[in-house]
Amino acid sequence: MMTTESYIKEAILCQSLTEGKVQCNICQRRCKIPPGKRGYCWDRLNLDGKLYTLAYGQVATSWIAPIEIKPMFHFFPGSRAFSLGTLGCNFRCPGCQNWDIAHRQIQEDTPLTEYVAPEVAVEAAKSSGCQGISWTYNEPTVWFEYTLDSAKLAKKNHLYTNYVTNGFISQEAMDLIGPYLDSYRVDIKGFSRRSYGKIAHISDFTPILENTVRAKEKWHMHVEVVTNVIPGYSDDESQMNNLATWIVDHLGVETPWHVTRFIPHLRLSHLPATPVATLERIIEIGKSCGLQYVYIGNVPGHPLENTYCPSCGKLLIHRMGYSVSECNLEENRCIFCGKPIPIVGEVVSI
Ligand code: SF4
Repeated sequence: MMTTESYIKEAILCQSLTEGKVQCNICQRRCKIPPGKRGYCWDRLNLDGKLYTLAYGQVATSWIAPIEIKPMFHFFPGSRAFSLGTLGCNFRCPGCQNWDIAHRQIQEDTPLTEYVAPEVAVEAAKSSGCQGISWTYNEPTVWFEYTLDSAKLAKKNHLYTNYVTNGFISQEAMDLIGPYLDSYRVDIKGFSRRSYGKIAHISDFTPILENTVRAKEKWHMHVEVVTNVIPGYSDDESQMNNLATWIVDHLGVETPWHVTRFIPHLRLSHLPATPVATLERIIEIGKSCGLQYVYIGNVPGHPLENTYCPSCGKLLIHRMGYSVSECNLEENRCIFCGKPIPIVGEVVSI
């Protein structure tokens, strides 16, 4: 069993306030935490006016996962990423698919996590044949210090690095980890204050958009966007049209956009799964806005999981499950018409 002393570590990016409070500046919630209390994510504790992270190295789940499952389709396709998550999150989405870890607190008397040092994680990634390491399953910023140390070490060991994030990181934190992150798979859950208020309980989602642009422009990360379309929350066509237009204008027409099916979970168990026709309609909207790579998600075997050449329309990458089963690229160009396809790394097919 863990003891408090064995797992806490002093937090970074925080500032002392009056009456012993400490402000955490890791994410945009910027919690002002009184002595003896934790922040919104439950992973940061104020002990006598000093802020500590409880989550450093505390791995709740780890897996050798195909990069396609994130989903990331244009970044080392077919590769495996050593994938890690901890407990807690800075959002409490009512339909969270990983609620069993994201909505849980680290406790001394409930050993749901196991300590995995950055060196051990990096070594495990290498020895298991992974090309990279991914912080995923819950929001990676809640164990920011650990992901930062691990990302630095991963880069030294020639592994790629990947954040699967809700994008609510602070700009300061983004600029600390930016030099060590290669890819940024961001959820943009909707495109209105109302949607974000209902889904993530935040009043302003524009920092998520600004961070996404910053990841791409300032830190040259490969960016892919995911929108999980929830019936009644984020499925109206004008909102999706505005989101697609924003991606075109701020990230470019070559940015992959994954439009994924909501599967009923948790407090949204009463909703239906998103109709496939709704997803297909939103994908059409994305394409009519100019996006060249719009994918369906959580609909296994659907032809829109594949990559087609935006120039000649031929099939370039056929996906089966989370594997690449056919690849018609040579040096990341369409073998039929020669168009360069924006893919980072080589494609590994089965
Ligand atoms: S990381 Fe946690 S404690 Fe820090 S601001 Fe975000 S929610 Fe609050």
